[in-house]
Amino acid sequence: MPFKFDVHDRSVYREPAPIDQDSPFQSMMERFDVAAEILELNPGFYEYLCRPARVFMTSVPVVMDTGHVKVFDGIRVIHNNVLGPSKGGIRYAPDVTLSEVKALAAWMTWKCAVVDVPFGGAKGGVVCNPREMSPGELERLTRRYTSDLFNVFGPDRDIPAPDMNTNEQIMAWILDTYSMHSRRTENAVVTGKPVALGGSEGRHEATGRGVMTVTLAALEQIDRSPKDCTVAVQGFGNVGSVAAQLLQEQGCTVVAVSDVTGGYYNADGLDIPAVQQYVKENGGALEGYTEATHVTNEELLTLDVDVLVPAAKEDQITKSIAKDMKARVVVEGANGPTVPAADDILNEKGVLVVPDILANAGGVTVSYFEWVQDRQGYFWSLKRVNKRLKRTMTDAFNRVYETAEKHDTSLRIGAYVVGVSKVAEALRLRGIYA
Ligand code: NAD
Repeated sequence: MPFKFDVHDRSVYREPAPIDQDSPFQSMMERFDVAAEILELNPGFYEYLCRPARVFMTSVPVVMDTGHVKVFDGIRVIHNNVLGPSKGGIRYAPDVTLSEVKALAAWMTWKCAVVDVPFGGAKGGVVCNPREMSPGELERLTRRYTSDLFNVFGPDRDIPAPDMNTNEQIMAWILDTYSMHSRRTENAVVTGKPVALGGSEGRHEATGRGVMTVTLAALEQIDRSPKDCTVAVQGFGNVGSVAAQLLQEQGCTVVAVSDVTGGYYNADGLDIPAVQQYVKENGGALEGYTEATHVTNEELLTLDVDVLVPAAKEDQITKSIAKDMKARVVVEGANGPTVPAADDILNEKGVLVVPDILANAGGVTVSYFEWVQDRQGYFWSLKRVNKRLKRTMTDAFNRVYETAEKHDTSLRIGAYVVGVSKVAEALRLRGIYA
């Protein structure tokens, strides 16, 4: 049995394209610009931070199972590495574009800076349809892409991770290919790999756990006890289901969850472990769950709840949804779930929005822990990982909250101010190498 993992395993790190599909980079820049203005960012630094530091394109030839050679476009963008080696996932998707990868790489830069992780931002992609490829074809594609980028990747240079349609097995192939070229085992070259190869305990739940931590911090700010709060979660995948479970464990009443098949509502609260079990036995979908009333995803987003966790995909909270929303707190488990035009509406309504670059940073935080453990050759218990994750997320929340208060702005802009100022200060101290 050559493949231990299902390469189509759904437990992959996904990071769908951000807000404006036509020009994702510009869309990301809308929020960056506001932060840059607040910070009165040096115009030269602004120019520098607007652009990726390096962009790599490669044609990846693969011998397909038929014996024919097919060539795939491979991309790796390093947005910034001022704070440390660049970090970011690799996505395999038929519609992945350079613009999207550039935007996602920049997002990684700000996200790492917000949680004080000493990494820069990067992202990679290969234009392919992994659903139509055999495990052998995917392995050859991964190994050739890694070999093409051998001089780019490295534990001290650029560290990939899973993203959409890439998973633990693909990380294992990257590790092996890189190690074969290096003539030594280099497990710190990727994160999100199997625990047996130096992966970290707790990485799988890390993003949902981080969402739970910042939700509790947000509730504390508005003097609300989790025990008196109702929660709705959009998306019941890795992030949404873990966040729902952990929030319930903290005493919240999770009244609604949803997935692509729609929303499921029970005013008395759903039994999340039972829902998870149902999904497991039902091919990964909530469809047909009977202990709840079926609602549309739109209805779920506008439910009268205390906390809304959008944990599905981008562009869900539009202007019209924002107008109808009743939640007091929104915690963005997904990347880019709120369109820029909805920001003002939510701000005017006094909704406390914990933004994506803070709320879902638990994943990259534990990826950093994984890299640290690999380099030390000393592995932490799950308890230690979770304790340090909690501390990192709480500190980041407090930093962002204080910054937003200081500049009388939203947590979203506060998070960008924290991220951009940290990178800009490092750049100022290092200077521009001539
Ligand atoms: P996943 O594939 O495990 O789950 C996604 C869930 O969203 C599924 O339940 C799916 O059915 C549901 N969904 C998809 N479209 C929907 C729609 N239109 N309405 C309602 N539900 C819908 O993905 P995930 O890893 O949980 O990622 C979710 C989000 O979190 C993404 O935006 C991702 O970028 C972000 N994120 C994930 C991680 C991570 O570590 N997994 C880290 C940072 C950010």
